[in-house]
Amino acid sequence: MTAPALFWFRRDLRLADNPGLAAAVAGGRPLVPVFIHDPEHDKSGGALRWWLHHSLAALDASLRRRGSRLIVRQGDAAELIPRLAEETGAEAVYCNRLEEPWARKQQEIVEAGLRKSGRAFVAGNAALLFETGAITTQAGLPFRVFTPFWRACLQERPPSSPLDAPGHLPPVDDTIASDDLDLLPTRPDWAGGLREHWKPGESAAMAALDRFIEDRLNGYSQRRDEPGEAGTSTLSPHLRFGEIGPRQVFHAIRDNAPPSHDADRFLAELGWREFSYHLLAHFPDLPTRPLRSEFAGFPWRDDPEAEAAWRKGKTGIPLIDAGMRELWTTGWMHNRVRMAVASFLVKNLLIPWQNGAAWFWDTLVDADLASNSASWQWVAGCGADAAPYFRIFNPVLQGEKFDPGGAYVRRWCPELKGVPDRYLHKPWEAGRPKPIVDLAGSRQRALDAFATLKGSPLE
Ligand SMILES: Cc1cc2nc3c(=O)[nH]c(=O)nc-3n(C[C@H](O)[C@H](O)[C@H](O)COP(=O)(O)OP(=O)(O)OC[C@H]3O[C@@H](n4cnc5c(N)ncnc54)[C@H](O)[C@@H]3O)c2cc1C
Repeated sequence: MTAPALFWFRRDLRLADNPGLAAAVAGGRPLVPVFIHDPEHDKSGGALRWWLHHSLAALDASLRRRGSRLIVRQGDAAELIPRLAEETGAEAVYCNRLEEPWARKQQEIVEAGLRKSGRAFVAGNAALLFETGAITTQAGLPFRVFTPFWRACLQERPPSSPLDAPGHLPPVDDTIASDDLDLLPTRPDWAGGLREHWKPGESAAMAALDRFIEDRLNGYSQRRDEPGEAGTSTLSPHLRFGEIGPRQVFHAIRDNAPPSHDADRFLAELGWREFSYHLLAHFPDLPTRPLRSEFAGFPWRDDPEAEAAWRKGKTGIPLIDAGMRELWTTGWMHNRVRMAVASFLVKNLLIPWQNGAAWFWDTLVDADLASNSASWQWVAGCGADAAPYFRIFNPVLQGEKFDPGGAYVRRWCPELKGVPDRYLHKPWEAGRPKPIVDLAGSRQRALDAFATLKGSPLE
């Protein structure tokens, strides 16, 4: 009997445009598709676990439709992948690369273990438009500014066209056992909002892309900033789990939609995702340490009460509270509001950006180490191409500008019922309770704190 190949699904939970899977299938061997849940290394919040449960179920269903099935195991992938290769007699293991530092390390261990036992290891690129080493400055250094990075990307040969999903797949030996993962919340079952808002899985991801191109691409550059509108693609959790790949999104826009400012703008957002991953590959400390080293001595505050009010959406500032409640209920928050709530936490409250990133990690369905870390550093002013220290979003003005009719804050803050429109974003001026912090005073406090930074732009 021909020895099988093992395909190790990681964050590429799809059959189409999956180069590692395509290479495994092309070998013509029996195939064992496997996913390892490794909570020790791949730490997930509750929202990610909920998504993963449904995404794995969708993947298993589409494998079964093709005659195969998904083997799931729980534990350390660095041990389990070589062990499974042994158990199944596989001669080669295929997968796609990940850029997270822990995942790269794990992949190196797996590869070394397999090679030692004479097995081949093949890793493709399912997660990025361009290889992280391929896009550098003329001096061969990583870009730290987005615009020249994205320009350099667009000057490269376009990413290759997406690969088709395999047709029929060989059956998996009945004797290979699969673990049940206990990923869903039970007591209490807090996932009602997630169920209402999302449909995980590869076909849902493709449907979301089609819907976006059909209904929302036209006008995207303006409507993408209005949180009360469904103006963006909401593809982020699908991209996060690899239910759809960036090449598929890129080509769907480039090849199927007429060229337009809206299309360029949307692709540039995909470019920000790419930029974040390239940063993480070059600066593996991105999730924990400020890219700009002078921020290491920043005088952050410890204020558990204010932080809890922020997390619960009880700051008294409508845009901030609406955003944090949207996050809690749906596992997602509009990008404009993410910037506002992050700026409020790190600047008005002077709470470390790492605390904010950790809460987002626990609650977002699209929580992604690269984009989350890079974005928090961007807002804090300590990252690549960061917002200048003095850009302190004023959540009242942001609300009045981007949610002028109040559709967004009224949706998430029912207590504002009865507040006249002109006071909606500053209800304390209509006699409602004052927010937990004075916006003008805390802005000045932040500017003073930034002025203490050695080598800061203030000097
Ligand atoms: C503080 C903060 C934390 C964030 N954390 C995450 C995170 O953990 N995971 C995540 O995917 N995005 C994160 N973002 C980026 C952005 O808010 C989301 O990607 C976006 O809101 C997702 O909605 P969408 O799919 O409708 O976006 P669209 O506007 O439709 O954009 C299309 C795709 O481009 C990518 N993208 C868009 N904006 C950005 C951006 N600023 N940075 C990186 N990629 C982007 C996403 O993959 C997105 O799905 C964060 C932003 C901020 C300010």
